[in-house]
Amino acid sequence: MSIRDNLIDIQQELLPFNARLVAVSKTQPAEKILELYNSGQRIFGENRVQELLEKYPSLPGDIEWHLIGHLQTNKVKYIAPFIRMIHSVDSLKLLKEINKEALKHNRTIPCLLQFHIASEETKFGLNIDEAESLLESDDFKRLENIEMVGVMGMATNTENKELVRKEFHNLKEIFTRLKDKYFSGTLYFREISMGMSGDYKLALEEGSTLVRTGSILFRSR
Ligand SMILES: *Cc1c(COP(=O)(O)O)cnc(C)c1O
Repeated sequence: MSIRDNLIDIQQELLPFNARLVAVSKTQPAEKILELYNSGQRIFGENRVQELLEKYPSLPGDIEWHLIGHLQTNKVKYIAPFIRMIHSVDSLKLLKEINKEALKHNRTIPCLLQFHIASEETKFGLNIDEAESLLESDDFKRLENIEMVGVMGMATNTENKELVRKEFHNLKEIFTRLKDKYFSGTLYFREISMGMSGDYKLALEEGSTLVRTGSILFRSR
């Protein structure tokens, strides 16, 4: 089966959940990305700025590039002209930088707050208290060139499905809490970015709206 078949399979699974697919194309060559593009996929995710900058100029201009990996403040300026969503916002400092660079390009950049939901120590992300103080700050309220469109998280890398389900459930609850407290009456705060190749089915059941899969999409079978 071709990677086009992988894409069709996953898109079928997403359909009943009304979720969208971010095709994670890190480490993949342009020709493979084009193969999915030519099958209709438009949202692609990269986790490193440098790799994204090397790839995107040679690929079609209507690809919606999402940055899904940790982002350093000093790299924001390189992606600000074209990035369509940043999933990995984990500080007010970073958000202010994104806003500043978006303003220079007369754009509004959709952002997700990344939460630490896994039981592993190493993963990036905020906890609920940090997120709330960010959202309540006057600095945040002044940012006019970012749009806070939801939350993102990565579950523990484990075979323990109940643990993973609990972590996704937790992220959904965080989303609901923030929506009710800070974004009620808005339409734009609506994304829950969760689920990767190993756990996207659980993520969908727990309310994911953006599934980020790489390896199962690009494997040859
Ligand atoms: C690599 C990566 C993915 C995709 O992982 P797969 O297991 O290949 O599906 C999703 N999200 C982030 C943040 C990643 O870095």
